[in-house]
Amino acid sequence: NNIPIGSPVRTRAIINRYFVKAKKNLGQNFLVDQTAILGIVEAADIQPGDQVIEIGPGIGSLTEQLLLAGAKVFAYEVDDSLPEILHNELPKKIGDAPLDERFKLMLKDVLKANFKEDLAGFFDMDKPIKVVANLPYYITTPIIFALAESDLHFTSLTLMMQKEVAERLEAKPSNKEYGPLTISVQTEMNVKLALEVKSSSFMPRPKVDSAVVVLTPLKEKPAIKNRKHFIWVVKMCFSQRRKTLNNNLKTLIPDGDKRAALIKELGVDPRVRPEDLTIEQFIKIASNIPAK
Ligand code: SAM
Repeated sequence: NNIPIGSPVRTRAIINRYFVKAKKNLGQNFLVDQTAILGIVEAADIQPGDQVIEIGPGIGSLTEQLLLAGAKVFAYEVDDSLPEILHNELPKKIGDAPLDERFKLMLKDVLKANFKEDLAGFFDMDKPIKVVANLPYYITTPIIFALAESDLHFTSLTLMMQKEVAERLEAKPSNKEYGPLTISVQTEMNVKLALEVKSSSFMPRPKVDSAVVVLTPLKEKPAIKNRKHFIWVVKMCFSQRRKTLNNNLKTLIPDGDKRAALIKELGVDPRVRPEDLTIEQFIKIASNIPAK
């Protein structure tokens, strides 16, 4: 079958053949636009032999192109009606290799993944691993956190998500999208917005605009002694985004003189809002606040 899965004609045929009903509660919006799909494959810079974890293959639109680009794909999926469809609809052979040498599906919630254990035997764990996904949007942030905090070392995460979340990930200070999510991701990873995707590229169409973001681990991470404590302090500083830094710091540093001294040390006006601070300034604040 030469028509790609990620096209309106083929997706419609699959939907009819298997009585697929896209499950809203699982964030099922299937890609039917080859430009967008190949854009993701290109953003992830897939090379023959790459080891790729895919989250939520759906009916295989992205999976198919990852395989054809030469990747070995391990996929997590929760919908148990999909393995049969993937097995039947993905190409039987990729070059000379039978599909099951190149593709493995695990029916499991990715938030419950134990990557090292799950991948062993299929991936060479000494070699780099990429993550590529058109994410289920209802759990975009938990997935990003789970990947960032996991013990696997990824070379890149190429993720389609709601544009609004993508903007939060790449935001700069003094921008209304800048917040705890921005800071927790940017202290670990470099964030690049690779492409925007219209809702007409999906079947059914999501209600929001989408964007593809490429995250790569920072070579030099800022020195944060206690990450959990740091994130807690950042969240506290943002607890009332509209209020001044001085106000937000009141719970953390009840003593007015101490608060004034810290704000002076930061070299900022006490009336600035939390969103105006750089990551370095948040690190300085955290280092002045004892761990609970
Ligand atoms: N990759 C396909 C595509 O691009 O057309 C489907 C993407 S769709 C936006 C998201 C997929 O994630 C669905 O197939 C859904 O069943 C799956 N999914 C939802 N929750 C999941 C979870 N907790 N773990 C793994 N997959 C999940």
